[in-house]
Amino acid sequence: MKILAIESSCDETAAAVVENGRRVLSSVVATQVEEHKLYGGVVPEIASRRHSEAIVGVVREALERAELTVDDLDAIGVTYAPGLIGALLVGVNFAKGLSLSANLPLIPVHHLRSHIASNYITNPELEPPFLCLVVSGGHTHIIEVTDYTKLRILGKTRDDAAGEAFDKAARAMGMPYPGGIAMDKLAETGNDKAFKLPRPTVDGAPLDFSFSGLKTAVINILHNAEQKGQTVNIADLSASYRKAVVDCLVRNFLHAADETGHKKLVIAGGVSANALLRRRLTEECKRTGRTLYMPDLSLTGDNAAMVGAQAYYEYLAGHTAGMKLNACAQRSIDLG
Ligand code: ATP
Ligand code: MG
Ligand code: FE
Repeated sequence: MKILAIESSCDETAAAVVENGRRVLSSVVATQVEEHKLYGGVVPEIASRRHSEAIVGVVREALERAELTVDDLDAIGVTYAPGLIGALLVGVNFAKGLSLSANLPLIPVHHLRSHIASNYITNPELEPPFLCLVVSGGHTHIIEVTDYTKLRILGKTRDDAAGEAFDKAARAMGMPYPGGIAMDKLAETGNDKAFKLPRPTVDGAPLDFSFSGLKTAVINILHNAEQKGQTVNIADLSASYRKAVVDCLVRNFLHAADETGHKKLVIAGGVSANALLRRRLTEECKRTGRTLYMPDLSLTGDNAAMVGAQAYYEYLAGHTAGMKLNACAQRSIDLG
């Protein structure tokens, strides 16, 4: 079954053709990041306009690279939630139009389910059940994936998402948006014991996260140094901060694994590209006899190949939509 998948939830316009949820025949991503960099973050109105301009070309290129035409397709999958509403609507409306004109089933896909599904592409042997740490720009969840379309949230962030926490601290340190990647690189060269930072916990909810205090601690360090006319070693601060965030992520994820008994651990989302998170979880899983699955680095950020992967399983579960499909800015991952 060949699915054309479309993604436009944030600042990447993407299209892909994926066969049977696992084999990527083509994947095209047009990013707007350079333009949003000018403003220090994604500007929703600009994002919608750029999606509208890019979508036809991106879809055409995905079909061309797969050496297919619309007639060869079996269904269309599209990200419908969560994300920027104006951005999502571009993909959803395009997919509805194409589905109607080509008489193809339309499959609505939850963006975070897609992030998890990036692992089905990289790890052909991976099947549910497993435990997944979803760490992205807007979300931080510990999810029990009991089946491809049956998911349960075990823990989540009470304030900032992990990616947001990296981006905000990086911005305070003077790095351009999105700073998570730059901070990860710089942290490799720094001393992670140079600054003492907290490892926040949430009272009575050991699987939940809280990152806003950690970010404030970094901002305070920078302000205090500035007032005293001192310079801060940004590589050391990056390394200390990255270690603190990753310590919290690893601590709660392993706690969830202990509690549930899952032996297959999976990570997903933009922050799953983080070098320290990958190293730490690799070590911990080896030490405790668990198997760790990670998406290929090229699939950690937003893309449509992961949408095509999840769309296949949503289709098998009978989850298709009609022309009444609407985009949703917010929707819980367990609701689909
Ligand atoms: P969501 O998926 O929650 O809707 P999003 O789509 O904007 O949000 P992603 O594309 O999954 O988020 O991930 C982007 C985030 O990942 C950004 O916050 C970025 O800084 C972060 N990120 C990317 N690479 C790294 C890295 N190596 N280390 C830490 N963070 C990273
Ligand atoms: Mg993006
Ligand atoms: Fe995302």
